[in-house]
Amino acid sequence: MSLLVLKFGGTSVGSVERIRGSAEIVCKTAAKNRVAVVVSALSGVTDLILKTVSAARQGEDKQVAEQMQLLQERHKKVIAELFKGPERKGVEDQVGAVLKQLHDVCAALLLLRSTTPQIMDAAAPMGEKMSAHIFAAVLRTMNTAGEFVDSTRVLVTDDKFGDASPDIEATAKKAHEVLTPLLKAGKVPVITGFMGATTKGQPTTLGRGGSDSSATILGAALGADEVWIYTDVDGVLTADPRVCSDAKTLPAITFSEAIELSYYGAKVIHHKAIHPTMDKGIPVWIKNSFRPEVAGTEIVAKVPRNGSAVKAVTVVKQASLITLTTKREASFAEIFGRLFLRLGHEHVDVLFSTQSSSENSLGLVLREADTDTVVKLMERTFRVEIQHGVVNPIQVQRDIAVVCVLGESMRGTRGILGRLFSAVANANQSVIAVAQGASELNICFAVNASSADDVVKAVHGEFLSQHAARAEA
Ligand code: ASP
Ligand code: MG
Repeated sequence: MSLLVLKFGGTSVGSVERIRGSAEIVCKTAAKNRVAVVVSALSGVTDLILKTVSAARQGEDKQVAEQMQLLQERHKKVIAELFKGPERKGVEDQVGAVLKQLHDVCAALLLLRSTTPQIMDAAAPMGEKMSAHIFAAVLRTMNTAGEFVDSTRVLVTDDKFGDASPDIEATAKKAHEVLTPLLKAGKVPVITGFMGATTKGQPTTLGRGGSDSSATILGAALGADEVWIYTDVDGVLTADPRVCSDAKTLPAITFSEAIELSYYGAKVIHHKAIHPTMDKGIPVWIKNSFRPEVAGTEIVAKVPRNGSAVKAVTVVKQASLITLTTKREASFAEIFGRLFLRLGHEHVDVLFSTQSSSENSLGLVLREADTDTVVKLMERTFRVEIQHGVVNPIQVQRDIAVVCVLGESMRGTRGILGRLFSAVANANQSVIAVAQGASELNICFAVNASSADDVVKAVHGEFLSQHAARAEA
């Protein structure tokens, strides 16, 4: 018997039909394996909870009441369609208790008119608590022994509220105490995704989209054989199918490729989710809960090369380029050193950076959402230098997109850069900045946002379409 962790995202539990479909997958799988389940909130629920909490903080009591009503109705309707009789009453009570907690948090915030990341972390995963109660009960109606487990009992994290990191060792200890006995008794624990708790028991979250991480953390902690992430697409694709109609599902990619892909815009799995399973070499599958018959994409340590050295092309559409230039007499190594230290303290993710000494300039390509923070941070850090003209005023170019071409087999393969940029030039587009990591796993480059789709099509056509030349050495 294999030990598997199955995770269902928001769309896979977003409606009565989806919950039933996902529960059937669990029942089938649990007939032959030991299975632990991790669930997200019903699709859209986390956003609605955060909106409600934020309305409470702003004193908008009417809005709070309206949105609480929406949350209640959404869950009530699902429960009414899924359950009958005493079963229904049981689940209604469990979900009602969670809604009551959320109501109480909002009541407190209406008085306090302020909140903290710690309070947000207590409120945000309420959607997962409701969906896990519902899912466990649905399994029971299908003769599978589903059992609700609050992940604060199992998943131990640090105290970086809003974006906590797991303590795998401590989690392993708790997982063996709480989950292993259930699994041994033939039960299927249904664990709330997205949340954990500090060693002091304070609730934390793993960041938006963190349920993928919940599954891989618990997979690693339990020493699972595999982790299956169920979503609403067939797996990892060679490109966004809305842009490239001939994009194909990849049967397998490596852990490193998965990290790069998700970091640079592919939405199938959260980039932080890969690490726990990568460290333990536990395969992760991306599967489609809407089409369970499709195999999906396997994420493993090694994948033999098959076809093009380029595996996929992804894009981050909202990015900007910040350029810092110094006068010749400045010690730019020191200036850049201070800058990166500050960026690290602020936990800013740089998409890529370029530096050329002759111009004493540094280009940072960032997500648009981080841009204003970073510009302010740079202006503050180098206030004196800017005043004295040692550092020039910070320049910002917005509306750019970062295209990323990746594949482990690109390492050592000749001619990729040549073909890549010829394809971009043939599409009549120009490149603003470019970086190829020394690991040669990816090539990232910035183009005007308005030309991103054309560039992605051109690059996908060159390397990944059916007619792509296979002239790689
Ligand atoms: N429900 C949470 C969110 O939307 C966690 C998740 O779905 O992964 O961020
Ligand atoms: Mg999600």
